Amino acid sequence: MSDMSWLDDGLCQQIGGEHWFPEKGSSTKQARAICNGDPARGTEPCPVKAQCLAWALENKEIYGVFGGMTARARRALLPPTCYWCGEVYDQPTIGTRYCSQSCRELARNQQREESPARAKRRAA
Ligand code: SF4
Ligand SMILES: [Zn+2]
Repeated sequence: MSDMSWLDDGLCQQIGGEHWFPEKGSSTKQARAICNGDPARGTEPCPVKAQCLAWALENKEIYGVFGGMTARARRALLPPTCYWCGEVYDQPTIGTRYCSQSCRELARNQQREESPARAKRRAA
């Protein structure tokens, strides 16, 4: 896991809460509005938004809002690689997301655990 010290300056650290990891089916609108700022309300974007997005893309963080983008939106920026291990695959084994059954299982297991980013936000 790469350095995440930039997160200390994130607005999510000041505000706290679960907006960035909403329950499945819940809106990410509030989190994205905080990350991206809202000119109508006179709020500025998060000062570490660029680092946050870069970190999420580099680490293929597959859950939550990072850098003002949902996981789905971030995935659209990445090359077609396994959702879990990041390897480019020739023929998707399971749908179009994973290179193998084991990667799918690992992703499922991780979903039940706390990602390092989520744990840090909670601790703030
Ligand atoms: S851009 Fe990243 S660090 Fe900033 S508020 Fe959003 S999730 Fe938090
Ligand atoms: Zn894989």
